[in-house]
Amino acid sequence: MKCRHCGGEVLSNRHGNSRYCCDDHEKAARKLRSKLRYGKLSSLNKEIERCQAILQQVYLIQSLKKPILGRDLKTLGFNFSLSTNEHLENGKLCKVVGNYAYHLDQNENLSIWKLKSKK
Ligand SMILES: [Zn+2]
Repeated sequence: MKCRHCGGEVLSNRHGNSRYCCDDHEKAARKLRSKLRYGKLSSLNKEIERCQAILQQVYLIQSLKKPILGRDLKTLGFNFSLSTNEHLENGKLCKVVGNYAYHLDQNENLSIWKLKSKK
């Protein structure tokens, strides 16, 4: 039998009916499988993380009392269709992405809040 990881010979003294030549290759193959599975599940999480990082960046600019606009987010490649939640703050609809909430008014003025992170 050939190792499913490296194609090398699996010796008959390997435990049970192992399809791998050694523990390292069995582990490596398992790791690779879970990585592939994780990769599919996490593509959305990655997008959320990416957009959250953009909000964080613009939030820091805002904290320097500089005006920020919707197009600043656009420039940074922010995904406006993404939100993990929506809520009303002072009667304004805010979109939540991760630990940040943002609001865009009709004039494209942007406000960003940092949410208390849930533990
Ligand atoms: Zn192998």
